[in-house]
Amino acid sequence: MADEWRRYLAQQAELGGAEVILGRPRAPAPKAESRPMPTDHPTTAEPKWKKGAPPIPGPGLTILSPAPVLLGNDLGALDTIEAVAERIRTTYCCELCPSRTHAVPGEGDPRARLVLVGEGPGATEDATGRPFVGQAGHLLDTILEAIEVPRTSVYITNIVKCRPPQNRKPLPDEIAACIPYLHRQLELIAPKVIVAMGGTAGEAMLGVRKSLGELRGKVHTYNGIPLVVTYHPAALLRNPNWKKPTWDDVRIARQLLDR
Ligand code: URA
Repeated sequence: MADEWRRYLAQQAELGGAEVILGRPRAPAPKAESRPMPTDHPTTAEPKWKKGAPPIPGPGLTILSPAPVLLGNDLGALDTIEAVAERIRTTYCCELCPSRTHAVPGEGDPRARLVLVGEGPGATEDATGRPFVGQAGHLLDTILEAIEVPRTSVYITNIVKCRPPQNRKPLPDEIAACIPYLHRQLELIAPKVIVAMGGTAGEAMLGVRKSLGELRGKVHTYNGIPLVVTYHPAALLRNPNWKKPTWDDVRIARQLLDR
């Protein structure tokens, strides 16, 4: 699928649209006479991902997250991302916890400017304790590469930190039990932009019941931080028609990072 995504981007480039091509053949070296003169001034060429990117859309919902208090524990007392991760690994907060192999708190830069939020760990994540390392994770890596954001520079996490059986959607009470961890993670990281991947993540973060169609195409505000909702990478594996809208959404998020 990652290859398919690359092919899709290459196609867009041919159409003069979203020109981002990963692993593309190198352009032939310019002939000596047409090579630009060396200059002290850096060139300000537009990045590839920006060509044909949609403009930043207008505002959506604005929400203030509730104080992150979990089962009587004051998560506010946990002062580092690692302390929150350790609490997640050593605590049961809902019915999903007892059957886990590993809890998956999240990973990445604790000072990330971009935080990506998925739904919940799958089989590979449960086996490894790391988020987005299965097929959907590989696709996510390719998407990040395409917008020139290294995976190591972001923080990736999920709404629920333990795998739901058979990868079913987390239930409302499971989300309610686990989401205080996410609120605390976001409080500590204080990113510049958040991307919620999939309807479950969008709804849970914004505290609403709305379709993905209603949540996409706007810049919501979560505790003062711009939040973009897009398709979950696993959905793109099922339906390639969602690649283009996803590509647009991530380029909106990328522009917000630069703003
Ligand atoms: N899907 C998710 O929502 N999260 C993961 O970590 C992996 C797959």
